[in-house]
Amino acid sequence: MVFSTDFPLREKTTILIGGKAKLFFAPRGVGELKSLLPKLVSDYETFFLGGGSNTIFGDFKGVVVSSENLKGWRVIEETPKWVRLEILAGTPLRELVKPSIQNGWCGLETLFGIPRITLGGAIAMNAGAYGLEIGNFVERVFYIDPPTGEIFEDKPAFGYRSSPFPRKGFVFKATLKLPKCGLDLRRRVRELNLRRRKSQPLNLPTAGSTFKNPKGFYAGKLLEEVGLRGFCTENGLCFSKKHANFLVNLSKEATFGDALKLIDLARERVFKAFGILLEEEVKIVSL
Ligand SMILES: Cc1cc2nc3c(=O)[nH]c(=O)nc-3n(C[C@H](O)[C@H](O)[C@H](O)COP(=O)(O)OP(=O)(O)OC[C@H]3O[C@@H](n4cnc5c(N)ncnc54)[C@H](O)[C@@H]3O)c2cc1C
Repeated sequence: MVFSTDFPLREKTTILIGGKAKLFFAPRGVGELKSLLPKLVSDYETFFLGGGSNTIFGDFKGVVVSSENLKGWRVIEETPKWVRLEILAGTPLRELVKPSIQNGWCGLETLFGIPRITLGGAIAMNAGAYGLEIGNFVERVFYIDPPTGEIFEDKPAFGYRSSPFPRKGFVFKATLKLPKCGLDLRRRVRELNLRRRKSQPLNLPTAGSTFKNPKGFYAGKLLEEVGLRGFCTENGLCFSKKHANFLVNLSKEATFGDALKLIDLARERVFKAFGILLEEEVKIVSL
């Protein structure tokens, strides 16, 4: 179904928190996006959703536009040294694990261990880990300008966990140029996943990093120092013992209110102790 009303958002997030959206729109192609987005943005607040791995929803009286039906990728050019891929926004990056390993395409392996991350969400957040960011490999982003429904092409400037999206529009596809780096990628992916499993609560509902790292600091370390590692609300939302910057929904019954409470508490304590104002990395969506 393309449209749903009063749509429960919880299952669309990795942290399993969410109220309802007034409308949920999952276009099946660029045609539907082009024709319907202008009307939707003139009538409602909109939020563009990928895999929901960095998003916490409350109730949202607007429309959530999901990329979940926009999946697929293809090779558009290949040389002995690199490959150019065209990837639709809703494609989970895990779909590229096998072909990357088989063909020696490097660059995305540091992100393969992240649950449910999509190409569109990775571009919007300039997702990165272990010294690489997706922005290093993005050549062109094709996006829809919401008010007009027109398609534009961009070579965006990326920053630390930032890009011009979703501000500029809905990303529907992108081209990436990946080098063939000659690594044993199967081994590398296994090592990176192990490293991630050791330092992050991958077996629990979480939304990844809650706060960005302030320049010269680690948000997780600051949270530890103000005593928030392992700190929980009554409903079982906690700062992870494994990684203090990750909120974990231990009870699976935590609410949006719990998330706001912990975020406010963390910001207040860190500011009091260090004079540093933490900036959210996680997207808090309510209206
Ligand atoms: C266990 C875990 C580990 C993580 N580790 C890392 C890590 O190592 N490094 C890292 O960078 N992040 C990490 N994250 C956070 C998260 O995976 C990234 O921020 C990721 O890029 C979000 O992708 P998504 O598809 O889930 O996006 P969503 O959470 O759905 O959305 C995130 C943002 O992208 C925007 N967006 C999504 N799709 C589109 C689109 N088609 N067009 C325009 N805007 C769009 C949304 O509006 C929102 O602003 C982790 C998360 C988890 C749960």
